[in-house]
Amino acid sequence: MNGDPDLLIGGEWIHASDGGLRQIVNPADGSVVASVDEATTEDARRAVAAARATFDEGAWAATPVAERAALLLRIADLLERDKEQIAHLETLDTGKTLVESRIDIDDVVSVFRYYGGLVAVQADRVVDVGDPTVISRVVREPIGVCVLIAPWNYPLLQMSWKIAPALGAGCTMVAKPSEVTPLSTIAFVRLAEEAGVPSGVLNLVQGSGAVLGSALTDNSDVDFISFTGGLATGRIISEVAAEHVTKVAVELGGKNPHIVFADADWESSVDQVLTGVFLHSGQVCSAGTRLIIEESIADDFVAELVRRAELIRVGNGMDAASETGPLVSEQHRAKVEAYVELGISEGAKLVTGGVRPSDPALAAGSFFLPTIFDNCDRSMRIVQEETFGPILTVERFVTEAEAIRLGNDTEYGLAGGVRTTDPARGERMVRALRHGTIWLNDFGYYTAAAEWGGFKKSGNGRELGPTGLTEYQEIKHIWHNTAPKPAEWFKGV
Ligand code: NAD
Repeated sequence: MNGDPDLLIGGEWIHASDGGLRQIVNPADGSVVASVDEATTEDARRAVAAARATFDEGAWAATPVAERAALLLRIADLLERDKEQIAHLETLDTGKTLVESRIDIDDVVSVFRYYGGLVAVQADRVVDVGDPTVISRVVREPIGVCVLIAPWNYPLLQMSWKIAPALGAGCTMVAKPSEVTPLSTIAFVRLAEEAGVPSGVLNLVQGSGAVLGSALTDNSDVDFISFTGGLATGRIISEVAAEHVTKVAVELGGKNPHIVFADADWESSVDQVLTGVFLHSGQVCSAGTRLIIEESIADDFVAELVRRAELIRVGNGMDAASETGPLVSEQHRAKVEAYVELGISEGAKLVTGGVRPSDPALAAGSFFLPTIFDNCDRSMRIVQEETFGPILTVERFVTEAEAIRLGNDTEYGLAGGVRTTDPARGERMVRALRHGTIWLNDFGYYTAAAEWGGFKKSGNGRELGPTGLTEYQEIKHIWHNTAPKPAEWFKGV
């Protein structure tokens, strides 16, 4: 970063082999905040080869789990030490408010602490095969070389969900952050090295996914690809990996319903519908972008949402007064603006936002105002496609069955929320909705100890929780006969 080498390959920090650099732009004001090395495909291939050689050499996989656990906890300690510095990088890079970035780094710390605790207690299974001379054990081993590809909206957070269990399991890896937001990951990898991650275990490349993708994924040296990003990229990676029968976990987009019944608590519902969709300017995979609301309260509820949406303070994430920051880039804002045009042309009723803020102080950044479309229906693309911006669509229902049908009427299945004070209905709803996370009378929260992932086209595999560790493990059955004797099947010999 800014002259220091940014690629870590086989324990050596190097510049890109062709000297290429990428400028990293602060979306709050368009300024260049850093230039970082842009890896070539050759660099990416070398990074995978280094991870392969380190894994095959065997020392890391053979390191006692207690030592690997201690390493994860040391990383957590150093993250706490460097929290402010990394949070600042995250805000400069993504535009999110500093408060959000600090929460992200706290979450990263808890992920390392959680997996540090979990790997230390994960036990093998002993199976009784009915023969006292046989010891049958089911053991977990590292899956091998992992390629870890992360998106730009939660750069270090998403990467930590991969690196922490991969290290804990004893894998070696190549991490590739989004080319749009690599700064926090570069800082993190330096910190992990300081914590004592052995040479060649954690390799880092950054650059365009389209350029580096095939070197990282169309590669028979790779045992597991963990990808978080958009559906289109997830499809490409899954297809490429299938050629090598490489295991893949893809965490993709969402079009998440937030269902509000008329009996729901009014104050927390209005507040959380707003937060659920407008936090981080809607650039959240689990954002509650579809409000599905009971007809009898819909007009009043939407009017209150509009009033409060217009009070949201959009601004530079470094400014303590800002409640939400810009979109991540000019290009991304153009996509969001195209969705607003589409919504209008599809006949949805724009009731607030839909434009850039008028404040001249924000003119150089890629800001966009919180936007609400009323009178939406299932035929509209703005209801079905992930806009990944601050856009809420409103659909209405009369019966519970209709609410369920609408809530499930999406090709995605990442997350959803239900708000009701009727416990029986709440339970029926949380079971009927086909999404990987359901919040009942809450929205957006998660914990390192519970699984995260999608149904349907939101992906496969799970991150976090015990399953988030087993993704990085192979399961081996060891059948050990302590008193060998002939099988005596072929009696004629
Ligand atoms: P993206 O798919 O454009 O890029 C994600 C990553 O993939 C980047 O690092 C990119 O460089 C890389 N990439 C691109 N093409 C590649 C290729 N051919 N081969 C290998 N890698 C390639 O996604 P994005 O725009 O960075 O992120 C936004 C998306 O991420 C949204 O759809 C969002 O919903 C999703 N997301 C999902 C979760 C989840 O937990 N399910 C979390 C965060 C974000």
